[in-house]
Parts: sequence; C-alpha cells; structure tokens
Amino acid sequence: MTKLTSIDYMKKEEQFGAHNYHPLPAVLEKGSGIFMWDVEGKKYFDFLSAYSAVNQGHCHPKIVEALVEQSQKLTLTSRAFYNNCLGDYEQYITRYFGYDKVLPMNTGAEGDETALKLCRKWAYKKKGIPENKAKIIVCEGNFHGRTITVISMSTDPDSYADYGPYTPGFVKIPYNDIEALKKEITDPHVAGFIVEPIQGEAGVFVPDDGYLKAAFDLCRDNNVLFIADEVQTGLGRTGRLLACDYEGVRPDILILGKALSGGLYPVSAALADDEIMLCIKPGEHGSTFGGNPVASKVGIAALEVIKEEKLAENAYKMGKIFREEMKTLESKSEMVEHVRGKGLLNAVVIKPTRGKTAWDVCVVMKDNGLLAKPTHDHIIRFAPPLIINETQLREAIEIIKKTIIQMK
Ligand code: PLP
Repeated sequence: MTKLTSIDYMKKEEQFGAHNYHPLPAVLEKGSGIFMWDVEGKKYFDFLSAYSAVNQGHCHPKIVEALVEQSQKLTLTSRAFYNNCLGDYEQYITRYFGYDKVLPMNTGAEGDETALKLCRKWAYKKKGIPENKAKIIVCEGNFHGRTITVISMSTDPDSYADYGPYTPGFVKIPYNDIEALKKEITDPHVAGFIVEPIQGEAGVFVPDDGYLKAAFDLCRDNNVLFIADEVQTGLGRTGRLLACDYEGVRPDILILGKALSGGLYPVSAALADDEIMLCIKPGEHGSTFGGNPVASKVGIAALEVIKEEKLAENAYKMGKIFREEMKTLESKSEMVEHVRGKGLLNAVVIKPTRGKTAWDVCVVMKDNGLLAKPTHDHIIRFAPPLIINETQLREAIEIIKKTIIQMK
C-alpha cells in the first residue's frame, strides 16, 4: 500500500473530523524529547509541548515504561472497587504538593469543574452561604477549558458564543486588578476566586509582582477560597514547581493537569485540605477513569521526572536566555513588539506587518523546522519541553530569529 502524504492525512481530517480546530499544516508521526517528525520524515523543534502537557519531553522512557508495564497488568477497575495503585499515587502527590487530599480526574476542564464543585459545597456546608446563592469570582481573559460551566466563566466569544444558557454564579473582574477584587470580594455570598497565575491561552499575560499574594490575602481576610488553575503554569513550566511558588502562595484548591502525565494520558487533579475536600461525600462526584491504575502509575512517574531532572530549575535558566535573546529582536524587527513570560512559558507579540500575521510567521517557522502556535492574530507562544538544553535552545532561537528576519 502506498504511504499517505501529509496532504492525504489533512484531507481525511477535514472530511471526517469536526471542524473545531485549525491546526498548523504539519502531520506528525513521531516524537522524542524536544523533537517531533512529520510523515515525510522532516524533524521539528516542538515549541508548544501540546500546550504544556509534554514538559518532560515526548515519550519520556520512564513514563512510557510505567504506562506499558501497568497497561499489561490492570488498566481500569472504576472506583466501584479499590486498586493497588491509587493509594500510592494519592500519597505521593499529596506529599509532593503538601495537601491532605487529592481528587483525581482526567482532563484539565474536569479538574476545574471539580474545584468549582468543591468550592460550592464548602460554601454551603462550611461558610453558611444560603442555598444556590454562592458566587465565584473569575478573571476576564481566563481559559479554564471547554465544558458548559467552564465556558460560562469565559469572556472570549470564541469559547462561549451560542452555547447558552450559561451556568450562573460567576462574577467577572479584570485580571491583574486587585482593586476590582477588593470591591467584589466583600459580598458575603462570594465563596471563591479562581485564577490562572499567568493567563496562558489569553496570550501569556503575566500579572504584576505581588498580585497573587495580594489576592490570596484578600481571600484569607474574607473567608473566600483561593483557587489556582495551574493546569498550564504548573509542574515546572514557569521556572518553579508551581507558578504560585514565586509569591509564596499556597492555594486553598490547586488544579493540575496536562504534564501530570507527561502527555501520555489524560490525568488531572484537584488538591485541597480535609476541611474543603471532605465536603464532598461518597457518590457526590467522580469519573469512571479518574484515578485508574495506569493514570496512577503514570502520574507518579511524571512527577518523579520533574524532580529528578530538575525541570523547574532548567526552565528558569533556559527561559532567561530565551527572553534575553528574543528581546534583541524588539529593536531589529518592526514585527516584534514585545516579549514576555516566565520560565519556559513565553510569548512574542507580533505587529501584523504588510498583511503578515502571527499565523504566517508560524507557517514559515514550521518550514524552517520549529513548531509553535499563534494565540489570537498577534501573539506566538513559545513553550518547549522543559528538558531542552542550552545548545538546543540557541539553535531554536536562531530558527526563530531567521524566520522573523525572513518575514521582512
Ligand atoms: N485550565 C487551563 C489554565 C488551561 O490552559 C487549559 C487548557 O489549555 C485547561 C484548563 C483545560 O484543560 P483540558 O484541555 O485538558 O480540558
């Protein structure tokens, strides 16, 4: 049988798949470490890491081994029974992050849903908010996933338009605006404040230093839960284990996903102490796949790799080099407006020049051997796996620079 080409695969997806994505035209068939290869054998630097799910690098041997080994023994019991992997994982992850309990789920959006449910239960069981009156404060520009409740928090029409009616109970305030939070948080019906420590999907918006700590203190003073969505920023991505660590903030509810499996499997989690977590009783929340034996083994391996390979430390160092180098483009190219980020979660803001947008830059970058994805028309996110070394990083930077200069 003749081998299909990239064009063939793209046509198939176009014909048989829903049109809910607009991928860059690269058809990938292999990944290893920081690289991916397409079906024609062309090699690329991966500067997206599946939206920060592949922090440990593609097909990390230790995580693959955990997955293969467990998948030959026992994959799924559902939570109708116990299994001999989940308890070990729960112990490991709660000690790793310093919480009493974990509630295991699969996708990031489910982790967020879990946090919202926990917050509302706590509001009624502990805070004493009257039934159905609980409010949760959210930030404009947020991205917490795609479920109906989660998009009810969104201010991006691409996420919410024509999906109403929406879940009520959310108060939207500007991101990085402590005064706005101060104004809303004294309402006695407010139960929680959910925030991304850096807004990833919105275009890597880094809030002012001190914002998270000030928001956390306001929550504490008003008996409101501080909920951190670290699905994208967590697990070493920003140069610390958690982005909240930069400000010494320990969220009341911590949401993790993506790199919790190193990209092998959907694994997410909500972590909290007993006072909050035990508000949910047996039968009141769950998921068939959440906490299954494979996910448990993969989760431990993925977390071990982050510590053993010092990925947060490497992300911090490599991120500094990346931003320093990219900032030199601000003066050299009329297209590069601004460079921002933390650790290896960075963005370059592009000024569309002569009709060329961030998308066009990404297509040329792809041809030059580096994959990155635009968010909106004018922002390119650069987020390679955290195992990248300095020589590789400098090689990748040269490709980005060459591309931007080429766009002239
Ligand atoms: N929360 C944040 C901060 C995210 O960036 C994402 C995905 O990009 C999600 C939640 C949703 O995760 P998932 O796509 O696994 O549902």
